[in-house]
Amino acid sequence: MLIVQKYGGSSVGSVERIQAVAQRIVATAHHHRVVVVVSAMGKTTDGLVKLAREISSSPNRREMDMLLSTGEQVTIALMSMALQELGQPAISMTGVQVGIVTEAEHTRARILQIHTERLERHLNAGKVVVVAGFQGVTGQADLEITTLGRGGSDTSAVALAAALQADQCEIYTDVPGILTTDPRIVPDAQLMVEITCDEMLELASLGAKVLHPRAVEIARNYGIPLVVRSSWSDEPGTRVVAAQRQPRPLEGLELTHPVDTVEFDTNQGAISLLRIPDRPGIAASLFGGIAVQSLNVDLIIQSIHEGNINDITFTVTQDSFKQAIAVADAILPTLAKVGENNLSQAEVRGDDTPIAKVSITGAGMIGRPRVAAQMFITLAEAGINIQMISTSEVKVSCVIAAEDCDHAVRALGKSFKVEVIPEPTSLQLNPRSNSGDGMLPPVRGVALDRNQARLAIRHVPDHPGMAAQIFALLAERNISVDMIIQSQRCHAVNGVLTRDIAFTVAQDDADEAQAVLEHAAAQWVCGEVVVNRAIAKVSAVGAAMVNSPGVAARMFEALAQQQINISMIATSEIKISCVVDEADGVRALQVIHRAFGLSGSRTIVVPSVAKV
Ligand code: ADP
Ligand code: ASP
Ligand code: MG
Repeated sequence: MLIVQKYGGSSVGSVERIQAVAQRIVATAHHHRVVVVVSAMGKTTDGLVKLAREISSSPNRREMDMLLSTGEQVTIALMSMALQELGQPAISMTGVQVGIVTEAEHTRARILQIHTERLERHLNAGKVVVVAGFQGVTGQADLEITTLGRGGSDTSAVALAAALQADQCEIYTDVPGILTTDPRIVPDAQLMVEITCDEMLELASLGAKVLHPRAVEIARNYGIPLVVRSSWSDEPGTRVVAAQRQPRPLEGLELTHPVDTVEFDTNQGAISLLRIPDRPGIAASLFGGIAVQSLNVDLIIQSIHEGNINDITFTVTQDSFKQAIAVADAILPTLAKVGENNLSQAEVRGDDTPIAKVSITGAGMIGRPRVAAQMFITLAEAGINIQMISTSEVKVSCVIAAEDCDHAVRALGKSFKVEVIPEPTSLQLNPRSNSGDGMLPPVRGVALDRNQARLAIRHVPDHPGMAAQIFALLAERNISVDMIIQSQRCHAVNGVLTRDIAFTVAQDDADEAQAVLEHAAAQWVCGEVVVNRAIAKVSAVGAAMVNSPGVAARMFEALAQQQINISMIATSEIKISCVVDEADGVRALQVIHRAFGLSGSRTIVVPSVAKV
């Protein structure tokens, strides 16, 4: 067998650790051919970033790559020496030497191709090849060193496994595998024996840094058997599994076909609770009521507006529409009864104009903001107005008028050159989720992301093309946007109908996003751009969620019981994300983990990382 093993920073954080890992590699090399990918030792990369920041607040990205790529180079040499010391023939290779060719996008390059001949020559000569993770080169013409983005060694390993057609890729880290959440925050997190690539993609991109989402994307696209294990023990770890896929060409490895399919669903109705008070517990009562009726809610979006009032909008299937409206109607009197007095403007709006949800799906959208922008542009060019938007890492959904559906689907199929999957898709996802043995819990894992900022643009004119312009502008600057929420409520401003659009971006991108949007908002005659950095995003992920009414209610209820206020909600078929105050983030993660019964009896201890 050919096995690719990747050892992360903490696994190689000291000379002793490197020697321990070398022994493990030798044991495998007795029976198999082995390629090893390593990270920089311990927190070396953080240290290098800090050095650069002491010199410049915005260091040149090419020089940043030159600097950061040195970390891995130290480890490959030491690891190779440690292997040789044990009598194991070994050779170290940098990304350039292997021929890991990337695009010329410094500090966040994607892998285009890997020339494996040189590496294979060494393997065939009986050596273990130790490759520097996280780095690549822009190709023969200029040989510029690039890096793949923080945490990118996982991606190097899985990409190498794909290029070499390895039998298995093993990611060794400082925890026993993939857990229900981060054990540093919730020590009784449980190990999962297996997780699907789709679930892992969401968890990874929503804050579970145990795997780089792009590594999961490659494993999913190329069907690479992937395992995450501890380098401290012999436990089997977690298998990350993907459905069988069509073989793909290796050329353009990380760039081909970001979108797999276009899906649509015309069987939906939207209900909104407008201008309700912004306080803990309202979402919980609404969706608690919906859950009691066993109605399956599809999209839920909530965004806060000026004056601390909220709108919550959700969609249900047409046949549940009447019942759902009745539940929503009953909410306002209930709130009034418990002393809520800020309800004078509140209103339930059940729009019975038929709506359709069109979605693009595919793992290749991760970190590629141009894909969502292309969807909005395609719809704008087709003259179609977008009523609601909801995004996840593997899916972007837009709610539009049902009469526009055929037109939208045709335009999107053409724009992304993909097949169209007929409706309904969502309810067939997980045949095991109904009942009986082998049933997966609706929520597999929860994650916390404290690295996001929320931006809102007020009063965006409600006509086709606005979302396209906004997100194209951010995409041009390679700013990835998460959790886009376009409100259902329209305000009339000087006779023009407008809506608010809110979304989250990485904190590092918040200043740039704010600057470009403020400039543009003035030209487009939008309202102000509001930024809030003190937020945290908590998310629950599970493929079986789609068929389990009440999951959202349980999450909102758990937060309400702790008096944690939710300022944004966005859902997709396999995840629910809530934005809360930064100060509430850790507590929110802990209560959600408990509410879904994810705690185990074992306490996970993360081995302390040796400082270098
Ligand atoms: P490495 O240096 O091996 O690449 P990372 O620090 O990048 O390791 O990732 C491992 C860490 O990910 C763990 O120590 C843990 O704190 C964190 N983590 C976050 N969410 C999860 C999760 N769901 N399962 C396991 N680990 C998680
Ligand atoms: N050393 C790099 C980082 O810390 C890559 C990695 O460890 O995956 O981001
Ligand atoms: Mg890592």
